[in-house]
Amino acid sequence: MYELSKKVKALKPYDPITGQYPVRLDANESFLPLPGEVLLDAQTALGEMALNRYPDPLAQEACAAFSAHYGVPVEQVVAGNGSDELITVIFTTFLEKGDAFATIEPDFSMYAFNGFLQEARPVQIPKNPDYTLNIDKIIAACKEEDVKLLIFSNPCNPTSIVCPKEEITRLIRSVDALVVLDEAYMDFSDQSLLKEAAGFDNLIILRTCSKAFGMAAIRLGFAVAGPALAGALRAAKSPYNVNALTQKIGALALSQDLAIKAALEELLLSRDALYAGLEALGEKYPGRFTLLPTATNFCTLVMPDRQGLFDFLKAKGIVIRLTGGLARVTCGAPEENARFLQAAEEYFLTTRKEAE
Ligand SMILES: *Cc1c(COP(=O)(O)O)cnc(C)c1O
Repeated sequence: MYELSKKVKALKPYDPITGQYPVRLDANESFLPLPGEVLLDAQTALGEMALNRYPDPLAQEACAAFSAHYGVPVEQVVAGNGSDELITVIFTTFLEKGDAFATIEPDFSMYAFNGFLQEARPVQIPKNPDYTLNIDKIIAACKEEDVKLLIFSNPCNPTSIVCPKEEITRLIRSVDALVVLDEAYMDFSDQSLLKEAAGFDNLIILRTCSKAFGMAAIRLGFAVAGPALAGALRAAKSPYNVNALTQKIGALALSQDLAIKAALEELLLSRDALYAGLEALGEKYPGRFTLLPTATNFCTLVMPDRQGLFDFLKAKGIVIRLTGGLARVTCGAPEENARFLQAAEEYFLTTRKEAE
């Protein structure tokens, strides 16, 4: 009889919120649909596509559009089936069983998950009490623990905080480890190292089309690195990892610089409105939560009774996400933000501050 191994039995699947909720502020997706002209062009392209043939293994059209949009040389760009796939490829390619990999907690949960699958040794470096990064402590921990791979998000999911790029640069230069810098939310901020990526021999930057670009459904992410690392990623990924439809839609959408800019402005307006609303709630109900500064499309609350808030909202058809000991709220359409803020206020009105 076949028995699952201990490792496989211990796996806990990624647990997104499923089910029907009228207001979804839980997954950091964009609330905006793709521009109409992109959808029309995609439909035309679909009619002409040879779906019986394998797609371009290097997704060159999508990589070229990414390269043009960000102004990075196309040789440095590798496409993935979402950046999640690239994270998995990186863990399986650059880590051997038992190697140490470091995360800076709390951070995106998929890093630890992939390390577990790879049977690597987790080194969990805590963030500062205010959730900023302690660069010196991270450098020391990487040396002490002989860390082979350091992975973190900047701006960080779930803290929403961005670390200045000078500090990140100092970190990358000070460790021997391969540094995987996940810039999933950097379109909302201005501390990207994309253009400097090839100047480091130990840096891979990850980007995604799932957040600022509103393409979570089609699964498209990119890795940017110097020649040796980009070449290794191309060699290690599965050959047809990005399907033809995604390649096409991604290339079309990434070519629309004006539409991207307009969407980004709308997302940032929504984010600022959500943040201002939460700030006002924080003043009105002091001591109930602390709002962290945001450089992303979501707002993060430090809140002892976050589970109470979560349950209260969910009963009203509004979902947020609890992760890393924090409550995370994605910015939504104006009426979604308003519904959330109103329901959150109701929660604060009808409950007491939980004893800590
Ligand atoms: C959402 C997210 C991803 C995953 O992006 P996909 O391209 O959709 O796989 C990766 N990293 C962080 C930090 C994220 O928040």
